[in-house]
Amino acid sequence: QTGDLAPLDASLMTTTLNKNLKTVPEFDGPEAKAQKTMTDHMVSALWTIEHGWAAPELKPYGPLSIMPSASVLHYATECFEGLKLYRGYDGRLRLFRVSRNCARMCRSASRIALPDFDPQELEKMIVALCARDGPRWLPKDRAGCFLYIRPTMIATDSALGVQRPREALLYVILACFPDMSKSLASPAPPAMRGEANGHSKASPGLRLIASSEDTIRAWPGGFGYAKVGANYGPSLVAQGEAKAKGFDQVLWLFGGDDYVTEAGASNFFVVLREQSSGKLQLITAPLEERMILEGVTRASVLELARERLTKTQEGVESVEVVEKRFNMGDLIAAYEEGRFVEAFAAGTAFFVAPVSVIHFRGRDIAVPMDGDSGVYARLIKQWLSNIMYGKQQHEWGVVV
Ligand code: PMP
Repeated sequence: QTGDLAPLDASLMTTTLNKNLKTVPEFDGPEAKAQKTMTDHMVSALWTIEHGWAAPELKPYGPLSIMPSASVLHYATECFEGLKLYRGYDGRLRLFRVSRNCARMCRSASRIALPDFDPQELEKMIVALCARDGPRWLPKDRAGCFLYIRPTMIATDSALGVQRPREALLYVILACFPDMSKSLASPAPPAMRGEANGHSKASPGLRLIASSEDTIRAWPGGFGYAKVGANYGPSLVAQGEAKAKGFDQVLWLFGGDDYVTEAGASNFFVVLREQSSGKLQLITAPLEERMILEGVTRASVLELARERLTKTQEGVESVEVVEKRFNMGDLIAAYEEGRFVEAFAAGTAFFVAPVSVIHFRGRDIAVPMDGDSGVYARLIKQWLSNIMYGKQQHEWGVVV
């Protein structure tokens, strides 16, 4: 932002309250499952190249009006975020490391020529919306429940030419969302799980199918590290095919060596026993190549594991925590040699989700499970959930 252009400033926010409040639906009921129920309000701010950011508005949730020629509808000039508002067991409402989502939103925006802003101002807009709708939509008797928060930015510029947008809209909405991690605990009916393909084992845990060579999610020099809509639309065919075959998510591979990158819209972790040293390693793909999204959950798993798992404590064997490239060959070798200890996906939507099967070129890796989860996934999930729901006071839990 230079010259006289106005910066994004949440302190200028105007408020127009909704006079027709909705009935709050059951959590995990049909309305939540339909994922179409948003709360009563939204916040938004308009940016123009002439003036910079206009005063943000908190107003009733409702449709947008944009021109059919708007940049976003043609050139995918859109980015978004996903995080949750948690109702704690101590009665408080919390966000989890929201500053990381706001900073990532800025990085995503800059990848697609959307305007810059101070991430702290977006954070204040998110907090204002959560403070407005949180208490009614997440009442105190719903401890352990959450609302899903979707910050979004779109280029609304109506000029049809392929060019940097001159107008954009930043907005945040709150959704009533089902708890997808709970849906994994109870296995889907056999028909859904691809019985016909021999994948009928009704076990808990995510069932992943590795992506084929002709469906690449991200590549060097691309935009896989950015949370832009353009990463998601093109993944839906592979996701649909995975579901039809009885799998939950696609394990995204890259390159002739089948490097393992992410699982669905989550980061992916494995625990393997290293061949030479015999030590356990918690491994996930690295950020440097900019092919994976830098998950807030990923960062938190890594930090907690480095803090609490690198020495033998908590009653479990210690692990080394490693961010490095690994490929399907490494996983198959570890599996065949009995060194594959566990695998899990980590992200806001599915939280920490144990993986039970990885299907790759006609064969299954049956990932070891200790009941409904691996030991490390269970421990890390509990630690994170304690912070999110206020069972452990921690700086990552931001009280609204
Ligand atoms: N990878 C991708 C591709 C994603 O869309 C997400 C969800 N934002 C993640 C990983 C996990 O990120 P986070 O932990 O911040 O939800």
